[in-house]
Amino acid sequence: ESKRMRSHASLYVPTLEAARKQQLSLLSDLQEAVAQNQLRQFLQPKVSALDGSLRGVEALVRWQHPVRGWLPPNEFVPFAEHTGRIRQITQWMLERAVRTLSTWHAQGLQLSLAVNVSTLDLQDPGLVGRVASLLKEAELPAHLLHLELTESGLMAAGPEPIQVMHSLHELGVKLSIDDFGTGQSSLAYLQMLPVHELKIDRSFVDGVNFDARRQELLGSIVKLGHSLRLTVTAEGVETEAEMAILRNAGCDLVQGYLVAKPMDTPAFEQWREQYRP
Ligand code: C2E
Ligand code: CA
Ligand code: CA
Ligand code: CA
Repeated sequence: ESKRMRSHASLYVPTLEAARKQQLSLLSDLQEAVAQNQLRQFLQPKVSALDGSLRGVEALVRWQHPVRGWLPPNEFVPFAEHTGRIRQITQWMLERAVRTLSTWHAQGLQLSLAVNVSTLDLQDPGLVGRVASLLKEAELPAHLLHLELTESGLMAAGPEPIQVMHSLHELGVKLSIDDFGTGQSSLAYLQMLPVHELKIDRSFVDGVNFDARRQELLGSIVKLGHSLRLTVTAEGVETEAEMAILRNAGCDLVQGYLVAKPMDTPAFEQWREQYRP
């Protein structure tokens, strides 16, 4: 019996050790990721709930790790937020987004592109200046660049980001509240924010067609957004049944696998050329 316990322990310790080593190596790898150009921009369309027309695009980061392969953001973004490395990722995504927007703009396409930013970015006094100079260098109308901020991140950050949000708004950049419904913000708080869009969290959409009470809840969130004069977007729409409910509820835009999964930039361009709503 004691032998079995020992062998159990000797199996357990190296596993913890390995996990720590993996985290440490991820930290040093993350420094390399930007320098070695291992980050990628994936794009997912946002379409009108009424007629399916393409209304905007969201940029989502991917990391093509030399050893571990494609890493989704949940495997490194929280970690990068913890270590402060997220600022370099955000800057890379902003530069990449502005390049994509410039291409579209040159083609006469009035498509917006939304970049996800973390609360740490909003506490960075250099952010507004960097966004302003990127837009100026590219001679791009600021309203084409959108920034998505999670409701829970905003609530955790306290009042400081609000000033930064106002500065971004004055630049002409549009702001969205992401994962709405999960962060417990108050109406008074929402009313204070210079935002143009609420993105309803996927958890409210998933399987909503099977539950009348959740349908009502979804309807109330859409009404709340509209009473604040905001565009209401639903994320994670996977089925026609969910889509129909959102359309009936008056939701403005939808995003999700039903329309398209996030794609790398060339695949998105192909999708866009073939897309017929
Ligand atoms: P998010 O901003 O809420 O992005 C939506 C996530 O839902 C994306 O996951 C997307 O691939 C996924 N998704 C889209 N449609 C569907 C659907 O129909 N069904 C399901 N099940 N999922 C769908 P992804 O790309 O893995 O990103 C996860 C989260 O990581 C994002 O959530 C965002 O919070 C964060 N993130 C992604 N890119 C960035 C970035 O560049 N910077 C920062 N700070 N965070 C990022
Ligand atoms: Ca988002
Ligand atoms: Ca979201
Ligand atoms: Ca999310």
